[in-house]
Amino acid sequence: MEVEERLNEVRARIRKASVNGGRDVDAVTLVAVSKTFDANAIRPAIAAGQRVFGENRVQEAQGKWPALREETPGLELHLIGPLQSNKTAEAVALFDVIETIDREKIARAVAAEMHRQSRQPRLYVQVNTGLEPQKAGIVPDDVKAFVAFCCDELGLSVEGLMCIPPVDENPGPHFALLAKLAKEAGVERLSMGMSGDYEIAVAFGASSVRVGSAIFGTR
Ligand SMILES: *Cc1c(COP(=O)(O)O)cnc(C)c1O
Repeated sequence: MEVEERLNEVRARIRKASVNGGRDVDAVTLVAVSKTFDANAIRPAIAAGQRVFGENRVQEAQGKWPALREETPGLELHLIGPLQSNKTAEAVALFDVIETIDREKIARAVAAEMHRQSRQPRLYVQVNTGLEPQKAGIVPDDVKAFVAFCCDELGLSVEGLMCIPPVDENPGPHFALLAKLAKEAGVERLSMGMSGDYEIAVAFGASSVRVGSAIFGTR
């Protein structure tokens, strides 16, 4: 199957899950995760009208997106992988949305860089809903205070929360927890759901889903 066909299939499934969940047909933004795929593999998705993309490495994204952006205005790029503080300047310069604000140090570095560059990427706080030691993110109990810290101390506006549930668990409870935490923290949007579970995420209120392999193929 071609990228365009797979993309249309994912779009149709998102619309169906939205309607089944009593949500607007266009309530959910599809973030096409293009990590590991080169510009030539990404172009068919852009040609098929996809405008929002996710990458997990700053350096890899720098290598392909400036050229793609020049070809097609209006692309929106999300950072969905961990951000190291020595990459903060590049990340703030390149990305429209940073979904992985996962600790105080990074929040401070991003705030300082946004000020320096007069650039305002939209921000999400990553939440470690499964309390996994190897995974980045704010633990659920600290989310409300962390969002308040970002807002009150750093002057940042947090648009949403993001999570990656443990691979071996039913994702539903994790999505439900993220929705509850967002409500408690007064945050609007939820980035949750990947190729294996995006329809479930939509049912639990995802405002965006991050889908890679179902569009571009296996990595
Ligand atoms: C790779 C990745 C995705 C997409 O995963 P697929 O299973 O290929 O859809 C989504 N979110 C994050 C954070 C990722 O790193």
